[in-house]
Amino acid sequence: MSEARKVVIVGGGIAGLTAAYTLWKRQVPFTLFEASERLGGVVRSESSGGFLLEAGPDSILAQKPEGLALCREVGLGPRLLPTNTDERKVYVVRNGRLHALPDGLMLMVPTRILPFLASSLFSWSGKLRMARDLVIPRRRDGADESIAEFMRRRFGEEALDLLGEPLMAGIHSGDPEKLSMRATFPRFVELEARYGSLVRGMLAARRGRRGAAGQAAFYSLQGGLAALVSALAARLPAAELRTGAAVRELTRVDGAWRVRLRSGEQVEACAVVVATPAQAAVELLAPLSADVGQTLAGIPFVSTAVVYLGFASKQVAHPLDGYGLLVPRRERLRSTAWSFFSTKYPGRAPQGQVLLRAFFGGARDPEILTLDDDALIALARSEAERLLGARGAPTLTRVYRWPRATPQMEVGHLGRVAQIEQRLSEMPGLFLTGAGLRSVGIPDGVADSTRVADAAASFVSESRP
Ligand SMILES: Cc1cc2nc3c(=O)[nH]c(=O)nc-3n(C[C@H](O)[C@H](O)[C@H](O)COP(=O)(O)OP(=O)(O)OC[C@H]3O[C@@H](n4cnc5c(N)ncnc54)[C@H](O)[C@@H]3O)c2cc1C
Repeated sequence: MSEARKVVIVGGGIAGLTAAYTLWKRQVPFTLFEASERLGGVVRSESSGGFLLEAGPDSILAQKPEGLALCREVGLGPRLLPTNTDERKVYVVRNGRLHALPDGLMLMVPTRILPFLASSLFSWSGKLRMARDLVIPRRRDGADESIAEFMRRRFGEEALDLLGEPLMAGIHSGDPEKLSMRATFPRFVELEARYGSLVRGMLAARRGRRGAAGQAAFYSLQGGLAALVSALAARLPAAELRTGAAVRELTRVDGAWRVRLRSGEQVEACAVVVATPAQAAVELLAPLSADVGQTLAGIPFVSTAVVYLGFASKQVAHPLDGYGLLVPRRERLRSTAWSFFSTKYPGRAPQGQVLLRAFFGGARDPEILTLDDDALIALARSEAERLLGARGAPTLTRVYRWPRATPQMEVGHLGRVAQIEQRLSEMPGLFLTGAGLRSVGIPDGVADSTRVADAAASFVSESRP
């Protein structure tokens, strides 16, 4: 492989692997360096006693097509596993009791009148306030605002407490008062700008997508999402996927990039794609530009814990007839959400058993990782009993800890990204992708790293002597 055309990719999570796959398709030589001993980053699937556990992500959102398209492209189409379309309920805890989200609710936007009116989740005054979305004028100044400000303005305080906080900010394990609406849910901002009302906008969008009715909203893979990591790796030259190889320093030398590993090894490259989460990129980019380093370091990351509990079905009083439940902050419990994992996807628990996945921590509970595994399991068991009537000793327990792994795109985030991009444009051949910059989640991460790798490939072909 020609050194003069080589691209070095830093990081072997989904972002780095997607970048490698994109370069490979364009026949651009690359080497990927991954600090840990395994590829996949936060994507990790494990089997234990007949249960299938996802340590990190468990679902790929269908509405953003890039994640599923990549799975199909690498031959995983037949292994795509839709969420159970018969049991789609999502519950929200209110005053200690579980209430199902009404049918037709699209994240925060009601699109079916009767189920919305009949819902026991919202009070009558809350419903009336949400209905005012139809008449409240659109915001015209184009300024960024928090999820909380947006929700209060369009749907009121109750919708913020019951949907905005546990569901929308909850997806990011974040604080709704801080997360940027434009960075995290740009589609809703666009719907408001275009239709003046989210309800009207969502109904119009749904009319345009009639064919998609009945399609699952999320997919996993048989054997778990790590199958995507293996399928990507299997297509790439094994010698160019270097694990246990942390990159320590990037320097520009004579119009090329010198990449120094923690081991001392050095590699020359025409271009570098840094495909690590924003916080891990700080160490590499700060010596090249103090501005970029500082701005990247200003993107906060929060810590979370995932706790699995397996039970014999008869130990759990609740029918677990849905995807899971959300726990609003005002309930004063420590879990933030629960997946009814064995209902959501088939093959996640042995016959006669169920699998629950509990989420803890995030911006709401920054101290969560100070608890040891036994304390986290005890907490999960006590809240599973209270919320779902799960009694007796679990047949499986497992804790996954995610210290500072979840990026927070706070108000003003898009401005900070523009600032970073401006500075990067002054460093030819240096490209940045990975969680927390322009993307969070698998579909957006795949889209961003594909675009960035394409830009790196074009740079390499234009620089060819
Ligand atoms: C608990 C949890 C649940 C989630 N659930 C979902 C979900 O259901 N659906 C969804 O779409 N998304 C979900 N996400 C988000 C999604 O998983 C991430 O956005 C995405 O996987 C991030 O991929 P990445 O490649 O950018 O980063 P990572 O997966 O973090 O990979 C980055 C890699 O870079 C390596 N690295 C860092 N520094 C260096 C260095 N100096 N040299 C070499 N290598 C380095 C790291 O070791 C790591 O392997 C979840 C995330 C978490 C933590």
